[in-house]
Amino acid sequence: MNGARAERLANELREREIDVLLVATPVNVRYLTGFTGTNGLALIDAGRPAAHRFLTDFRYTTQSAAQVPEAFDREIVAGDMLEGIVETLTASRGEKGRLGFDDASLTVKQHARLTELLGEEWELVPCAGAVERLRAVKDAGEIDRIRAASRLADEALRETLEAGLVGRSERDVAIELELRMRRLGAEGASFPSIVAAGAHGALPHAEPRAREIRKDALLTIDWGALHEGYCSDCTRTYATGERISARARETYELVLAAQEQALAAVRAGSNGKELDAVARDLIEAAGEGDHFGHGLGHGVGLEVHEGPRLSRLASEDPLLVGNVVTVEPGVYLPGRLGVRIEDLVVVTADGQEVLTRLSKELTVVA
Ligand code: ZN
Ligand code: ZN
Repeated sequence: MNGARAERLANELREREIDVLLVATPVNVRYLTGFTGTNGLALIDAGRPAAHRFLTDFRYTTQSAAQVPEAFDREIVAGDMLEGIVETLTASRGEKGRLGFDDASLTVKQHARLTELLGEEWELVPCAGAVERLRAVKDAGEIDRIRAASRLADEALRETLEAGLVGRSERDVAIELELRMRRLGAEGASFPSIVAAGAHGALPHAEPRAREIRKDALLTIDWGALHEGYCSDCTRTYATGERISARARETYELVLAAQEQALAAVRAGSNGKELDAVARDLIEAAGEGDHFGHGLGHGVGLEVHEGPRLSRLASEDPLLVGNVVTVEPGVYLPGRLGVRIEDLVVVTADGQEVLTRLSKELTVVA
């Protein structure tokens, strides 16, 4: 971790004529400073030379000294953090300026308090998404971590499936999967695992139940590992016996075709709206459009859901080299079954790198 990310952000701030950006969301603070504690704030300075600041409290004196790079002046605030910000700001920048803040996360109460403390000469400027836009483009080190998380999650699933599925509970499979990810070196799961058999699979965000998994059904597993701060995300749907219904088989093949076509279309210059349409058009043409109620995918990084989004409502901004996204169409037949297939893919200079290595052929795990 060095100050390079803060510098890139400072460049953007200059373009928007923001003097200082207040970064308070922990994941954004971590991205910019490397700090993994729960109470830290960054003030990114657009001036030259930049004087970025990092504020935390007494508990994190040692940790912040070890994690936060030289590019930031560290301050330990004894009292109220907002007062600390204002003191730092007025000491370094004087009585007036433009302070950017994240209007998607700063509370109304905090905003009112800042306005009161800063006085009229400081203008508070909404800047939601500034750090998130940087985070959407991963560097090589970040991609290495996501790749490692993905490999680890793949391996944990392989091991978990060795014991079979039929007769176990969804909950038991989810617990084993999470335990195996931890044993393989993950900090934990990147989100609560979904294991959903039969009609339960028709709920896209089903919670694993204590109920026994039956033979000859479809079963969806959606899980991911958290590794060195970075997430993976993958979904596979299996058959728990050879004798699944014709409708189940057709649905699987439809989702697989949609997934493969959309995945193949992922490259720099494509956009989230058109990629979503690649999968959706195929599913709609098969008469199942109403059963694909969510977007095609999302970015993955420090958070399991981040930018860029791949959906009907996504922007038409092109995908960029370094974006890491999921491609996960699904078809859900209420009361009957569900199929979702999800891969994690990196947009690279010469195309794409699919991180998920597990087979997508309809596989029987009984
Ligand atoms: Zn997923
Ligand atoms: Zn996902």
